[in-house]
Amino acid sequence: MPKTVVARAIARQRQPRIGIVGAGISGIAAAAALQRAGFGEFTIFEKGSDFGGTWRENSYPGLVCDVPSRYYQFSFAMNPEWSRLYSTGPEIKEYLCRVARERGLDRHTRFGIEVVGAEFSGEDWRVTTSTGDVERFDFLLCATGFLHHPRVPTIPGLAEFTGPVMHSARWDHAVELTGKRVGVIGTGSTGTQLVSALAGQVPKVVLFQRTAQWILPTVNREYTRVAKTVYRRLPTLGRAAYACNRAAFALFSRGLVHPGLTRRFIQWVVARNLGSVRDPELRRQLTPDYQAMCKRLVVSDRFYKAIQRPDVELVTSGIDRVDAHGVVTADGRRHDLDVLVLATGFDAHAFMRPMAITGADGRTLDQAWAEGPRAFEGVMMPDFPNLFMLVGPHSPVANHPLTAVAEAQSARIVGWLRRWRAGEFTTVAPTAAATARYNARMRAAAPSTVWATGCQSWYLGKDGIPELWPWTPGAYEKLIRREPDPADYTVSPSAPAHRVAGRK
Ligand code: NAP
Repeated sequence: MPKTVVARAIARQRQPRIGIVGAGISGIAAAAALQRAGFGEFTIFEKGSDFGGTWRENSYPGLVCDVPSRYYQFSFAMNPEWSRLYSTGPEIKEYLCRVARERGLDRHTRFGIEVVGAEFSGEDWRVTTSTGDVERFDFLLCATGFLHHPRVPTIPGLAEFTGPVMHSARWDHAVELTGKRVGVIGTGSTGTQLVSALAGQVPKVVLFQRTAQWILPTVNREYTRVAKTVYRRLPTLGRAAYACNRAAFALFSRGLVHPGLTRRFIQWVVARNLGSVRDPELRRQLTPDYQAMCKRLVVSDRFYKAIQRPDVELVTSGIDRVDAHGVVTADGRRHDLDVLVLATGFDAHAFMRPMAITGADGRTLDQAWAEGPRAFEGVMMPDFPNLFMLVGPHSPVANHPLTAVAEAQSARIVGWLRRWRAGEFTTVAPTAAATARYNARMRAAAPSTVWATGCQSWYLGKDGIPELWPWTPGAYEKLIRREPDPADYTVSPSAPAHRVAGRK
C-alpha cells in the first residue's frame, strides 16, 4: 500500500493521548518508536533542561561508556562518527540530543517539568506536574531510569568537611581541582574511572576502597578519519559492527547466567590483568574475594596504571569518620584532603519514585511494591492499566546496553498501542497471577546467575536475591518481541466513541 494511503488510514483511527516521563535513552527510544508507528501526538515530561538522562546528569571527569559505541547506540540511528571504541560521556550525550532533535522531539518535550504524581481514574491517567497542572493521558510511559537517585553514604562527620563534597552524579564544575588533594569514596565503574582520570592531574588522589573490584582489560582505540569516512559511506559496515558486538555480548551474557566455560574464561582474564600490578601488597589489596562479574564488571585500560602511581594512594581500612580536614580511617590514620568525591552509586530500586503513582482501585505503587519492585515482563504491572515501564524491574541490564533493551520494550508498547488504535480494547494490564508466575520463575532461576555467588551489589533486592533478568538478553528480546498471550492480561473492551488526540 502506498505510504500516503497508510498515513490517511492511520489518521482516521482513534489516536491515544500518550504521556512519556523522562527524555533519556529509553524516553527517546520510546518516542522514536511511536513516531515510526504513526503515533505523532505525545508529550514528554523532562525535569532536566535537556535530553540525555544519565548522560546529562553524569559529567564527572573520565566518564566513558564501557560498552562499545558501535553497540551502545540506537539501531535506528547508527552513528558513523564515533571518535573511539568506547565513547566519552559528553559524546554520548551529544549523540542522544542530536537523535532527539533530528526527530523533532524537542517540540514534544516540556523541559524543566517534573511529574510528581499520576493517578488512574478508571478511564485514563491524570498526571500532576511540578507546576500543579493536571493532564490526562490514555497511556503513561515511564522512562525514568533506575541509576538516578544518588546514594549518599551516612558517614559520621561528612557535613563537617570544610572542602567541597560532591556525589559523582552531581559534579560541580565550578570546583577547581588544580593543586587539590582529592579523596574518592567507592570503587565501582564510576570510582575507578574517576581515579583513572584524576591521577596525574592533581597532586594527590586517595581512593577509599571498601570492596575490591575485578577489572576487565580493554583498549580504547580512536577511530581514524579514514575509518569514520568508511563507516559514513558504508552504512552496512555500521550494522555489521552492531551485529558483531551483539554476538560478543550474547556470549559474555552466557557467563553471567550460567556457570561454565565463559565464566571461567572471564575469571582467568581478570586474574591475569590483576597480575599486571607489580607490588604484591597492592595486588593483595586489590584482589576481590568473590567471583568476577558478581558485581558489575568494571572495564578499564587505565585503572591499574593509575593506582600504581606514587601520587595515588589506595586506602583499604574502613572509613571511621570525616572531619573538617579529611577522612579518618579505622586504623586511626588521618587522610588530609581538599575535595571529597562520593562515587557511592545509586538507589537502583527506586525506579519511578518519588512520583506518587496510584493505579486502579486506589492501589499505590508503594503498596504494590512493598516486597520490592515486581513487573510483568519488565514493562507492565497488574492494577496499573495502560502504564508501561521502560527498563523496569528485572530488565536485562548488568553490562548490557540499555539502548537495545529500550528498543525491544518500545516495540512491545507500540504493539499494544496499535491494538488500542484499532479499537481492540480500552485498558490493559497483566493479571496478578501471570505476574506472580513470571516473578516466581525468575526467582527460581536467580541462584544459577553469577550475581548470586556471594557479593554485595546493587543488583540484589531486599531479600538478597538478584533483581535482574536471570537468562540471556537474547532470551528476553525473544520474549518481549513475541505476541503477548491474551491469557496473561485483563483487557477492558473498547469504548464506543472514538477519542481524538488532545481532547481533554
Ligand atoms: P556502584 O557500582 O554501586 O559502586 C559504589 C561504590 O561505592 C562501591 O565500591 C561501594 O562499595 C562504595 N560505597 C558505597 N557506600 C560506601 C560507604 N558508605 N563507604 C565506603 N564505600 C562505599 O556505583 P557506580 O560506580 O556509580 O556505578 C553504578 C552503576 O552505574 C554501574 O554498575 C553501571 O551500571 C553504571 N555505570 C556505568 C558506566 C559505564 O561506563 N557504562 C560508568 C559508570 C557507572 P561496596 O562495593 O563495598 O558496596
